[in-house]
Amino acid sequence: MSGDGGQNTRRLECMHWPEAALALQRDGSTLVWPFGAFEQHGPQLPLLTDALFAERILDRVLQGLPEEMPVWALPIQSIGFSPEHRGFPGTLSLSADLLIRLVKEVGKQLADQGVQRLVLFNAHGGQIGLLQTAARELAVETPAMAVLPCFLWSGGSELKSLVPADELAHGLHAGLAETSLMLALEPSLVGEQRPLDGDHVSNKSAATPPEGWSLEGPAPLAWFAADLSRSGVVGDSRGADAKLGSQLETALVAHWRQLFTSLMTSGWPPRGDRRRI
Ligand SMILES: [Zn+2]
Repeated sequence: MSGDGGQNTRRLECMHWPEAALALQRDGSTLVWPFGAFEQHGPQLPLLTDALFAERILDRVLQGLPEEMPVWALPIQSIGFSPEHRGFPGTLSLSADLLIRLVKEVGKQLADQGVQRLVLFNAHGGQIGLLQTAARELAVETPAMAVLPCFLWSGGSELKSLVPADELAHGLHAGLAETSLMLALEPSLVGEQRPLDGDHVSNKSAATPPEGWSLEGPAPLAWFAADLSRSGVVGDSRGADAKLGSQLETALVAHWRQLFTSLMTSGWPPRGDRRRI
């Protein structure tokens, strides 16, 4: 996490246990668990890209919420589920069942201590489905605690006005948006290269999806990055700059702050035994 003052009050791990006891028992107590990945992000972005995005954006989102809201962050889960990047050095991945078990084991302990909502704040597109599955399984076992799996980049109509439609649809990995955001958040970690690579460009070595199928969406292909790209980039990073990055940061923070405000002021989850009709 970035080290500026004030945010420690939003981190569960910085509390002493009597303070944690009071916090977790508060009405509407909500914990946010950021999820990243430890995977190749092209020759220009670091392995921790998704983890850094999840942490930094979440920090800013939580800092902007009224102090009295009972919401705190858990430490980042920085190794995720990244089999699609296997073969690119540096990539580390947990198996799906291990990650699901991790979410359920930690989630159950939080529910036992009184937590009423657990948000999985994920920045890695390759584990959206997995965290949704984990959330459903956990919710069955902890019906009094709401579990909300969300994806950082699904946020906001503003993104559509900042990133060209083609790149928004096809720039899946280490393209314009991610490279720009890292240039804004941590420029010292960004390398010189700006590849254009992946399925939507005339890259002779890239496999093209069969007609009617796509990399993501309702008829997806469970692709490997190596099928599509030599550099590891799937998208167009050439126009990346820090100005676009800080506009993206502002848009993401505003979007998620609004969603967290609506969650924190809502009556979700419904009370009673949600396993019965
Ligand atoms: Zn990423």
